[in-house]
Amino acid sequence: MIKQHELTGTNGSDIKFHNLRAVLLALLQQKTISRVRLARLTGLSNTTITHLVNELLAEGIIEEIGAEESPTAPTVGRPPTALRLIPTARYAVGVHFGVGSVRVAVTDLLAQPLLTLSLEHPLERPAEEVLEDTLALVRSAIAESGIRPTALVGVGVGASGLVDLERGVNLFAPNLGWRDVPLRDWFADALGVPVWVDNNVRAMALAESMFGQEDHRTEALAFVYARIGVGAGLVVNGKLYHGSVAGAGEIGHTTLLGTGGEPCRCGNVGCLETLFSEPVIVRCAQALAEQAPDGLLAMTLREGQGPLIERVFAAAEQGDSATRAMLAERAHYMGIALANLVNVLNPDLIVLGGLFVQGRRWLMPAAEATMRARAFAGLGERVRLEITQFGPNVGVIGAAALALNSFFYQAT
Ligand SMILES: [Zn+2]
Repeated sequence: MIKQHELTGTNGSDIKFHNLRAVLLALLQQKTISRVRLARLTGLSNTTITHLVNELLAEGIIEEIGAEESPTAPTVGRPPTALRLIPTARYAVGVHFGVGSVRVAVTDLLAQPLLTLSLEHPLERPAEEVLEDTLALVRSAIAESGIRPTALVGVGVGASGLVDLERGVNLFAPNLGWRDVPLRDWFADALGVPVWVDNNVRAMALAESMFGQEDHRTEALAFVYARIGVGAGLVVNGKLYHGSVAGAGEIGHTTLLGTGGEPCRCGNVGCLETLFSEPVIVRCAQALAEQAPDGLLAMTLREGQGPLIERVFAAAEQGDSATRAMLAERAHYMGIALANLVNVLNPDLIVLGGLFVQGRRWLMPAAEATMRARAFAGLGERVRLEITQFGPNVGVIGAAALALNSFFYQAT
């Protein structure tokens, strides 16, 4: 179901921002739209629309692009002039903290990356040194992209683990060993621009709901990212759902095994992450390879190119049936976690990223079949399951979306 309530404006000068927000969101969602249709969609009067549109035209945020292409029947007489956002009117910087890697992008107003840069670091490197390097990367990205400094909305930071949203502090990142890292102040003090910090997977969910395909604007969307860690970002009624202390979506640490589970880095045992994640899949593959040292998998792990996880997928691609069965078995655990997520949130759409982008063919069928079979009373059959179309850039696009979100919601 397409969400419309955010597009509903109210007339009155004291709530101009609310109306501006409704117009900007309508422009974002409709790509091109006439004044008449803007008025219809937002419920605002023609006078209010004229006023707001003139203001946006004067600020160089939107442009007129000739006649509107009618989505319905052809109109009688001269077709109305269409308006659209100018993608290069504003820019944002997205900073994605992964496990042992940082990716930075400069994006336009529609979250399209103009340029991405990345660095890798050993996990034992102190947070402060990683931040120094990241800051240099952000400065290079801004300089290389050649954007006007005045057009920069700000910097969005997708952090690993738990975040204090008010202070912009990365409270706890178990996969990095970070505690109380003041990300917002660090970047804001050094760059002198507004900075927004949120959990990195939650940022990805925001990007899917704001900048993904049109049918991503649903009542409830979950983005599930699985790589070294596993997490979910939830968008409910068009807004990120954070929970009480911004801990919502930690599905990687839901307990899947009641007894006999492996210890998890979070201190619990039998968590999803101990059953499905990149390190677990690589470990399972290595165990398989030991059983058949002359087999295809063992050979690919020994002699193949690139990260080990890619060699595992390559062995599956080349027809190694034991590898395929192992991947399906691992994906089955993810499917159980997805079924639990479906039962709690009842989403219209779940978008998967990370391992699922590369390993789609070997992970999706088992994860999907388990989710649909195990969810309650047919809820699992109705939910749409997709792989992110942002590919490996979903982290930086998500981080940039944190900054762009402020433009669309608190536009001046
Ligand atoms: Zn855990």
